[in-house]
Amino acid sequence: MHGPTTAPGGLPPACDFTVFGGTGDLALRKLLPALYLRDREGQLPADTRIVGVSRSDHDQAAYREEVRAALLEHVDADRLDDAALDRMLARLHHVTLDVNGSEGWHELHGLLKDRARHEDTVRVFYLAVAPGLFGSICRRLDEIGAADANARVVVEKPVGHDLASAQAVNDAVGEVFEESQIFRIDHYLGKESVQNLLVTRFANTFLEPLWNSHWVDHVQITVAESLGVGDRGGYYDHAGALRDMVQNHLLQLLCLVAMEPPTYVGGETVRDEKLKVLQALKPMTPADVDRDTVRGRYDAGLVGGAAVASYADDLGHDQSDTETFVALKAEVHNWRWAGVPFYLRTGKRLDRRTSEIVVVFKEPPHAMFPHSEGGSTPNRLHIQVQPDEGMRLHLTAKEPGPGGIRLRPVSLDLSYATAFAQASPDAYERLLMDVIKGNPTLFMRRDEVEAAWAWVEPILTRWAASPDRPRRYPAGTTGPIAAATLLERDGRTWQESDS
Ligand code: NAD
Repeated sequence: MHGPTTAPGGLPPACDFTVFGGTGDLALRKLLPALYLRDREGQLPADTRIVGVSRSDHDQAAYREEVRAALLEHVDADRLDDAALDRMLARLHHVTLDVNGSEGWHELHGLLKDRARHEDTVRVFYLAVAPGLFGSICRRLDEIGAADANARVVVEKPVGHDLASAQAVNDAVGEVFEESQIFRIDHYLGKESVQNLLVTRFANTFLEPLWNSHWVDHVQITVAESLGVGDRGGYYDHAGALRDMVQNHLLQLLCLVAMEPPTYVGGETVRDEKLKVLQALKPMTPADVDRDTVRGRYDAGLVGGAAVASYADDLGHDQSDTETFVALKAEVHNWRWAGVPFYLRTGKRLDRRTSEIVVVFKEPPHAMFPHSEGGSTPNRLHIQVQPDEGMRLHLTAKEPGPGGIRLRPVSLDLSYATAFAQASPDAYERLLMDVIKGNPTLFMRRDEVEAAWAWVEPILTRWAASPDRPRRYPAGTTGPIAAATLLERDGRTWQESDS
């Protein structure tokens, strides 16, 4: 199968962007606002149509009204303007179709064929529906002749529930589409600060000599949410924090910190290097899982001063052993990182919402200021992924003044908002444009997804067999005490963002 009609990185002359699940939460809250905002900036191909596919009995006018309401709700008021709204709404079509049925496909086919420049049109199929439907959608697209070389398919997480089911999803999609046509989204990779991590590492020289086991003591990656499971309890209870967050977002962040410099950033090079990191993760034995992982589950508590319910109450029963918190210690067994622990943690109903990476450097090899007041603290590079994207380098400085040396912690701060005086685009804005342009760098390749599952699976297996249950933590805290003990045992502590 040949690639699209445009060079990678270039904008095609025409695009049909079809969203399966076009009336769903993801489409209305994220995808369509992202397309609107790029359209407003004049970045969509002029000849673009957006086709919502769902079971809803909408005609075109009703769908346009639903999308208009969603844009008014989910786009900042200062970025809404009538001309851009009208242009976006005029691009919209709706096809009523049950993916499992045979009706409606003919209409979709007719719509997609009914355009000038058919041969030059990039066709994106965004599967914003349950993964169980991916296979039949792809087969149907193939049957109606829509899965040709100009087609791309975007797959949302979760890709599978474990290694075997991920392979089954990948097989089903791969039967119809070539790997180069499949875009597996991890929206973390579209965040500005995550992309800036690559630029910081590879467009500057000062970090690279330090970025290894000689100078780095350990790395911490935290993705904390203050929200509970809300009305997604049914879905979440089948997943849990390890599947929902660690297998994808946290391991992707770990890869970007740990990967070797590729020859250039683009195409397959970044994905090749990320895969090597996943393959270098030390597999966990049952004894490792018992020692190096902590799972937790929130009880009732206070978040931001408001009383919130326990996981059991959110779920509506107390029969579940699903974890809403994970902390673990991972090791990357390669030349650069041997002996450097990577501590990961994520949870719901924690004391704050934050995603951050902290690289903690080693202590100076020799104490040079024996009579000083105050000690030196290890240097830390703190990368704030969200909110308030930025970067902070923690140093030790001399407090000005006579009468001896007083050592004080100080920091060099880079805030995106002040340095660039412009709002960062939402991750989906970047990622959807990359799909339209055919740039796969920020998407997960099949081998990456499966390598991540292969590493996570022994943890799931051991947890399922273990008599231990998730440890309870009050909502509004930093998680179970055992998560702190995991580091204290190694003589370390979690670096909280304001510490
Ligand atoms: P949703 O329940 O809000 O919407 C589902 C959409 O799919 C609706 O438009 C519905 O009409 C359509 N649909 C369902 N079954 C169908 C069928 N048989 N035939 C045709 N259309 C059908 O779900 P959502 O929250 O939008 O999530 C969609 C997918 O994206 C899920 O797999 C979810 O795990 C994933 N996801 C969602 C989010 C999010 O923020 N909502 C984030 C990441 C991943």
